[in-house]
Amino acid sequence: MKLFLATGNKHKIEEIKAIFHENEVEIFSILDGISIPEVVEDGKTFEENSQKKALEIAKYLNMMTVADDSGLCVDALGGAPGVYSARYSEEGTDEANNQKLIQNLKGIDNRKARFVSVISFAKPDGEVFSFRGEVEGEIVDDRRGEFGFGYDPYFYVKEYGKTLAEMPEVKNQISHRANALKKFQEFWRQKKSF
Ligand code: IMP
Repeated sequence: MKLFLATGNKHKIEEIKAIFHENEVEIFSILDGISIPEVVEDGKTFEENSQKKALEIAKYLNMMTVADDSGLCVDALGGAPGVYSARYSEEGTDEANNQKLIQNLKGIDNRKARFVSVISFAKPDGEVFSFRGEVEGEIVDDRRGEFGFGYDPYFYVKEYGKTLAEMPEVKNQISHRANALKKFQEFWRQKKSF
């Protein structure tokens, strides 16, 4: 079974490939030299953005397509940065985004946060299904760990006593994306044919 993965983010591609490792799913992406048009992420929810991406690319390539939209939601910041996670700071780099996050949380005790991922699976005929996954954590002030990307070094998971950037293998098991993909895999198994 062939699936196109509509993301240019190498880390996400690796994470998703690792999760699908045991399955008979062949995953393609722009890393395989397939070019796709840019899809404007102008939705107000993770669902809107991931569905839009999956549908547009599925129609363009005439191939079943998986897209995700993800981000960090911090309780004390009213759910920000949310769908704007990638471009939270003006520069839009991981470094600048994290600095802005820590700055905005200065003096705030409530550090509760969650990563959210919505995976959408779209068919070229316009049918689309979405799956939401989350992982709960807390934002810490000092970066810890060298793995992962984005906000990982500041996202502490109490249960493991580590940030996501300190435990890449565990991250692949417990992450928002892993949880969304588990739901998608379950759907895939039950659906049998498309
Ligand atoms: P997207 O590529 O539009 O889904 O934007 C997601 C943004 O949210 C990324 O650029 C990161 O800043 C953040 N993000 C999403 N997933 C993760 C993760 O697994 N770890 C760290 N940051 C993440």
